[in-house]
Amino acid sequence: MKKYAAYVAGEWVDAGADGGNAIVDPASGEEVSQAPALTPQHVDAAVGAAQRALAQSDWATDARLRADVLLQWAGRIERNVEALARRLTLENGKLLGEAKFEIANQVNVIRFNAGLARSLCGHSHSLGARVMGVVLREPMGVVAVISPWNWPISLLVRDLAPALAAGNAVLSKPASQTAGISIEILSLLVECEGLPEGVVGMLTGSGGSVGQAIVEHPGVDMLAFTGDGATGKGIARDAAATVKKVALELGGKSPFVLCADADMEKAIATLARFIFFTTCGQICTAPSRLLVESSVEKEVCERLAQAIDGVKVGPGLDPASQMGAITTRDQYEKILSFVELGKKEATLVAGGEPVAGVDHGKCNFIAPAIFSGVDPQSPLVQEEIFGPVLTVQPFASDDEAVHLANSTPFGLASGVFTQNLDRAWFLSRGIKAGTVWVNNYNRFYAETEVGGYKESGVGRMAGFDGLHEFTQTKHINFDSTE
Ligand code: NAD
Repeated sequence: MKKYAAYVAGEWVDAGADGGNAIVDPASGEEVSQAPALTPQHVDAAVGAAQRALAQSDWATDARLRADVLLQWAGRIERNVEALARRLTLENGKLLGEAKFEIANQVNVIRFNAGLARSLCGHSHSLGARVMGVVLREPMGVVAVISPWNWPISLLVRDLAPALAAGNAVLSKPASQTAGISIEILSLLVECEGLPEGVVGMLTGSGGSVGQAIVEHPGVDMLAFTGDGATGKGIARDAAATVKKVALELGGKSPFVLCADADMEKAIATLARFIFFTTCGQICTAPSRLLVESSVEKEVCERLAQAIDGVKVGPGLDPASQMGAITTRDQYEKILSFVELGKKEATLVAGGEPVAGVDHGKCNFIAPAIFSGVDPQSPLVQEEIFGPVLTVQPFASDDEAVHLANSTPFGLASGVFTQNLDRAWFLSRGIKAGTVWVNNYNRFYAETEVGGYKESGVGRMAGFDGLHEFTQTKHINFDSTE
């Protein structure tokens, strides 16, 4: 069991006598880490330190310094991928190979943002014979990054790296369930040479206490929140009291549109990978609704049933496992209740049985489940399950596919599988989602933006827009007319 301390206002704060927040391995039920459960007083101290750092250091104005710090951080992560990945698997339950990918990929994301730091620029306008307007991009100030537990390091770095690149001070509020690995990643940053004290702070603790104190603090200028829709709506409401900028990356119920002419082998393997195997479907962009052309529905259901037949669900550290554990007990119970609902009101195509030979009182293992014959208005189709549960709906025309794709409150991501370019274009333009992957799925790049339509969020992260999200413009007008 590892005990972590959090870095707040230039000091390491440990978990105290009561042990702080216990982090449990979802594959065994054993406690593997402890992180401090901080208080609103720590939030106040961290905000004060961040404001002083911005006022007294060159951080906000020296882009080369920021690029240098980010490059150091990337190098430190690169040298520690193996150990960091093991801790991520222990706290989150995902497969070790996936954890290694998650950690190693941040090196690439941080290096991209280090380059962006030095490319941040505004524009100027000649507004008359003796008038010039200069529009600068300035940092927001003190930014809080509030992240969830499913891809805790990707989602932390996705927001933290551009926020720092843009010259902000950043306070990280990681999910309690994965606070230990988040502290490890942030520790590699706060030790970088040249980073002014107070520019980065770690605020571990519960959402209701530490998170809420961040949201309400008048000294926090922007919130970058990734998490559940209900939490995000509450944060947006409460942030309005101090008129904070808010970027929200929320849930999804993403459609995967499969046309009869598609490369079926690739389509089925891709779909199964991202709704069942990767993080057990606990991905905001998981393709949880299969929309399949009616002529191939039967064949596709048979192929999907084969894809999950005999799948080995087990600890992420076991190389034989093909699916790991559900990260939290609440999430485990929520998924099981949806599987029960599906058995009552739809047709179980395959899966849905308890995993054999494990202690269900302690280990959060769930097998995949596929349901057809679903009512389009059922919670199975309308609500985010965030687990390895797939619904299947047939469509007879491309218009119907677009209609079904857009028939939930969400609009985070989507997939289209067809070899017909015209159909791919029509479907991609018709679907209301921040991302459409054509003949692939869940491909994320540091260069390309992500974000939600409708109730899946506001704002864009990653890419150039992600950097700009953490800035505000200022027009300086030089006028020497008589
Ligand atoms: P959550 O909303 O419960 O928690 C997310 C974070 O918010 C945690 O750090 C939590 O402690 C904090 N928090 C909770 N209440 C708060 C409050 N009142 N004030 C401030 N902070 C508070 O979400 P979760 O269960 O950790 O994550 C799962 C959800 O995240 C799913 O809905 C999923 O779709 C979504 N998600 C979205 C994306 C995306 O990029 N769009 C990515 C991953 C996950």
